[in-house]
Amino acid sequence: MTSFASRVFFRVDRVCRHLPVVLNTFLVFSITGEVSYLVLVEPSLEADQNKTVWSAWWKVVHLLAQYFMLGNICWNALLFLRTSPSIKGVFLGGQGMGQGWRYCYTCETHTPPRCSHCYDCKVCVLRRDHHCVFFGQCVGFRNYRYFLCCLFFMWSGLLYATLMNAEVFIVILKEGVTMHSVLLLLIPWIMLVSGQVSARAFAFAFIADTCVVGFLLVSAFFFFHLFLMFRGQTTREWYSTRRPYNLGLLGNLRHALGLRWYLCWLCPLLPSPVPGDGINFQVTGSLEPTRTPTAMLEKITELDYAHCQQRDLNAKMRQWLDVADDDIAMLRSENANLRKQVKALEKNISEAQQVEAEPCSSLLADDLNAKRCSEQKIQKLEKEYTMIKEQNKKLITELKILQQERDQDKIVLSRFKVSLQTLESSMGEAQLGLLKRDEVIHQKNLQLKHLEEAIEECSNIIKDLRLTNQKLSDQLENRLDEASFAFVNDLMAEKEGSLSPPMSFAEEMNLLASSAEVETNMSDSTDLRHEEPEAEELPKPQSATVDLQTKRCAGVLETAFQRARLFLLFVILTVSAFVASGTSESRVAAGGMKAPRRPRQTRLLPRFCVCGVGLLAAAWIFNFNDVTGSSASTGDQDISLSKKELLQQEKDNNENNSISRSAISDFPEDLFTLKQKRQGAVVLHVLCAIYMFHALAIVCDVYFVPSLEKVSELSQDVAGATFMAAGSSAPELFTSLIGVFITKGDVGVGTIVGSAVFNILVIIGLCGIFSGQTISLSWWPLFRDAAFYILSILVLILVIYDEKVMWWETIILISMYGIYIIIMKFNRSLRSLTERHCSRAGQPWLSRLRRTTAVGNAGDCDNDMVPLKPDSCSVAGQDSGVVMVDELLNLHPHQLSFSEASLRLLITLHFPPPHPLAYGRMHGHQRAPTEAEADSGPGWPRGRGCFGRGRFGC
Ligand SMILES: [Zn+2]
Ligand SMILES: [Zn+2]
Repeated sequence: MTSFASRVFFRVDRVCRHLPVVLNTFLVFSITGEVSYLVLVEPSLEADQNKTVWSAWWKVVHLLAQYFMLGNICWNALLFLRTSPSIKGVFLGGQGMGQGWRYCYTCETHTPPRCSHCYDCKVCVLRRDHHCVFFGQCVGFRNYRYFLCCLFFMWSGLLYATLMNAEVFIVILKEGVTMHSVLLLLIPWIMLVSGQVSARAFAFAFIADTCVVGFLLVSAFFFFHLFLMFRGQTTREWYSTRRPYNLGLLGNLRHALGLRWYLCWLCPLLPSPVPGDGINFQVTGSLEPTRTPTAMLEKITELDYAHCQQRDLNAKMRQWLDVADDDIAMLRSENANLRKQVKALEKNISEAQQVEAEPCSSLLADDLNAKRCSEQKIQKLEKEYTMIKEQNKKLITELKILQQERDQDKIVLSRFKVSLQTLESSMGEAQLGLLKRDEVIHQKNLQLKHLEEAIEECSNIIKDLRLTNQKLSDQLENRLDEASFAFVNDLMAEKEGSLSPPMSFAEEMNLLASSAEVETNMSDSTDLRHEEPEAEELPKPQSATVDLQTKRCAGVLETAFQRARLFLLFVILTVSAFVASGTSESRVAAGGMKAPRRPRQTRLLPRFCVCGVGLLAAAWIFNFNDVTGSSASTGDQDISLSKKELLQQEKDNNENNSISRSAISDFPEDLFTLKQKRQGAVVLHVLCAIYMFHALAIVCDVYFVPSLEKVSELSQDVAGATFMAAGSSAPELFTSLIGVFITKGDVGVGTIVGSAVFNILVIIGLCGIFSGQTISLSWWPLFRDAAFYILSILVLILVIYDEKVMWWETIILISMYGIYIIIMKFNRSLRSLTERHCSRAGQPWLSRLRRTTAVGNAGDCDNDMVPLKPDSCSVAGQDSGVVMVDELLNLHPHQLSFSEASLRLLITLHFPPPHPLAYGRMHGHQRAPTEAEADSGPGWPRGRGCFGRGRFGC
């Protein structure tokens, strides 16, 4: 590889050395060809340009001149290259070395004067002028003639070519000095590459440029060398002002070109011998440079100075030599010491060898015994060490076992702690339950005491009643005696008159008793009810007491009928109540037994239907009884009630009507008359009201609230402003509608404003009283709603100021409500705008108010009515440490379902106390559980999104 690389390197080096010659040759021939082309063939650039027309003679002359110059150039160059200027093969030592001889360390020879070494040609050159870069050879004593002739013909040829190419410049610059022409003359290569000119134009422009540049260059060279030749100097000697080899103009010319200097330039073949041999030169001046006395003095002083310095150096060197001598003496003494030591060491070594060779002495025996003892001790110690290691291992294992036991004990202890905590909590609950039971027992004791007192009172009353009864029976017996006497007297009188058989005394007594009992039964039938069956079992009188008997039977029938009616009503009511409360009872009864539960909505319709059917049946039975019983009783009443009483009753009715007509007459008339109502239709009214309330609750619970929440998913602000507000204000709305359109009264403004005042003052005040803690509110909804409320009150005052409400005023009021809804729709952006404005205006109270909102940073919350949202309203933000279900959900957004979160809360110890605001918060802004969730969760209360109702409080 190295040989190949070196060969390649030499090849490249040789090619590069000959490259200037090749390039020059190419240029010379191309210029000549171009000039010949210009002379012979065509104009240079364009076809239509005015070509200088040469005659044939002129053409021949031109061509001859051209090729004469070309031939001279080539020939001289060839001879220049073929003639070696070096000192190789030159006999130098003929006349001995004289003045000006030197020694070349590269060629290792003595060289004559004016000879120098060329590091490119690697040889010493006789009378060396310079190393010509264009030919790659030195110019020396032997080839100086060829060099100078070649330069002369090159100069003349380039002059000729430049003159011939003037036409090209004329053509190029004919249009004026434009950018194109200047660029073409200066950088034709770039113009050719960029496609601005054709190859032909480029060739002509390039050759013309080369002619001009080459002519200038060669002219400088040529005249410089002419100058040097006439001065008798070489280029190297031109630097000095001295000319020691100057022979005059002619002598110099002869020495340069030969003796026939006037002919030799015509042809290189013409012989023109150069005087001299290139080694010895005729010296005409001094070779040494001339020196002035001052320069000589300076030189002397410099030499003196150098002499002094050398003296100093000499002294120093002597000192150093002395020091070195001392060092040498010391080293000699050290050397002697070391030799002595070496000898002593050799002695020691020989003694040691002798000792090694000798057998073990008695001292060694003692040492060996001591060594054995120590080895035995070491063995004992090692045994002990291993035993201690084993013990250590055992101890470590025991320690590990103890640690594990301790860990297990810890775990068990923690479990015990947990169970203890749970037991404590259950103990607390049980104590609470015991306290409640004690309270209940105490209350029941009180009730028992009350009942005992009542029983005593009742027994006293019964005693009194018995006493009065005895008195009355005594009186009755007396009267009976009197009546019997009278009757006996009458009978005796009739017997005396008639022939009818006389009655027995016992029969007469029975008759008398029956008539008396009828009277007593009519007077106080309720007190002596238990005696009635005995009275009915008595044999009936046949002849004299028939009217009295029929009257008694009618009265008994009527009371029985009324009792049956009431009983039937009671049965219907209980059945309907059972059906109405059927689901809850079944749920309570089912408890944990997992009774199959039907879907809720399928149970609603039967409940409604059964309740409705029960009500209809009750109404029908009442009407039926009314028809039959009232018709039957009218006769009785006609019999029993006197006319005075009837008149009195009518008067009472009229008075009652006149009293209540002023208010009641505004409403539509009732289905039942006053009498029917008194006989029990009021119960129907009450039932109907309960039914409607229950139905309303169910409808709101199942249909209205979920649909409201579904609607409020769109925008809670708008929903709160429309549906929620309408729902809470529905009573006022309907009261006002009934007041205006049915009773034609003036209820509207007072009711509405009064209820608003109640809402603002009483509700908020009560909530604040019973909340049990400091409640902080966010500023924005208060500010917004209060501002709009004040505005609306102002507009209302303006509207009702003239005691008239026109139609356009109503439109204004309703449109203001629409504006309010729109404001709620853009609530958040409006809020941020307000906050930005307030902060920019530098109102500190708003920001302070906003900062003190303890419930949470309402700016991050979706809804500012109840600001509670994940980041800002975290558990840590609350003082009580109470965890709500929605907060738990917010903390774990995708991990817990709603029922799981509530269950987790139910089984933790940190259970929130019942709290009205907390319920409201949950109720208002937590999505209500769907039916599926409610059914899937065990024991899920059927609230309308408010899952804490009752069940959370227990
Ligand atoms: Zn040399
Ligand atoms: Zn050279």
